[in-house]
Amino acid sequence: MTSHDPRFEQLSERLDVVQQRIAAAAAANSTVKPTLIVVTKFHPAADVLRLRQLGVGDVGENRDQEAAAKAAQVADPDLRWHFIGQLQKNKAKSVAAYAHSVHSIDRASLVGALGNAMAQQQDATGRKPLACFLQLDLSSVYPALAAPDGDANSGRGGLAPSNMAALADLIADTPGLTLAGLMAVAPLGVSPEPAFELLAQLSAQLVAQHPGATGISAGMSHDLEAAMAAGATHLRVGSDILGPRPVVL
Ligand SMILES: *Cc1c(COP(=O)(O)O)cnc(C)c1O
Repeated sequence: MTSHDPRFEQLSERLDVVQQRIAAAAAANSTVKPTLIVVTKFHPAADVLRLRQLGVGDVGENRDQEAAAKAAQVADPDLRWHFIGQLQKNKAKSVAAYAHSVHSIDRASLVGALGNAMAQQQDATGRKPLACFLQLDLSSVYPALAAPDGDANSGRGGLAPSNMAALADLIADTPGLTLAGLMAVAPLGVSPEPAFELLAQLSAQLVAQHPGATGISAGMSHDLEAAMAAGATHLRVGSDILGPRPVVL
C-alpha cells in the first residue's frame, strides 16, 4: 500500500479491536483462540489485500460470482477462502476451484455436486480435499420462532438437527470432501446462548461418530463472545472489521 492509506489504518485498528475481544473471550473461557475468518463480502479485493498485509489468513464470502472474481484478483495460494453462503449445485464446480472450505452444506444433492466437482478438481490440480461444515438450523430451541408469524429466520438456511447424522455420514463417505464440523447462525432477535448451547451438544454427538469433525463455525460481529463460550473453533466476522455493507444488492 502507499505511504498513507487511511483504509489500511482503519482496517488495522478494527482488526485489532476484534482480536482483543477474541483474546479476552479466550482468557475468560480458558480456551485456545479460534480461527478468525474475516468476512469480506461486498468489499473489494483491495481490502482483501490489505487484510492479507495485516496477517489475515482466512476470508469468508457468501456469493460465488463475487468470491471467484476476488480470488482470481488476489491470486494468493496461501490465503484460505471460506464459502459461507447458500450454495446452488451449479456453482459447485466454481467453488471447488478456489475454496478451502464450505460452511453452508445443508442437503445431500449439494454434497453430490461438490464431490463430483472436487474429483475433477483434484485430478486436474491435486488440490487438498474440501473442508465441509454442515449448516444447522437452530431455531427449534426457540418455541416462539415456530409460531406462524415467527418465521423471521427463514432464509438463513440450514438443516434440522435430526438430519445431521445422515448427511455427516454421506460427506465422510464422499472422496474429495472431509467432514470439518458444524456451522450455524444464531436466529435473529433472540439471545444466541441457547442456540450455541444446542450447537455444542450436537457437535459432541457428531464427534462421537466422526472424531475428526471437531469444527464449530459460529459467532459473528455481535455474538462472537457467546459463540466462544460455547466452544466455537471458527468465527466469521464481517462488519466489525470491514464496516457496514451496502444495503442493496
Ligand atoms: C455476513 C455473514 C457473516 C458476518 O456477519 P457480521 O455480522 O458482518 O460479522 C457471518 N456469517 C455468515 C453466514 C454471513 O453471511
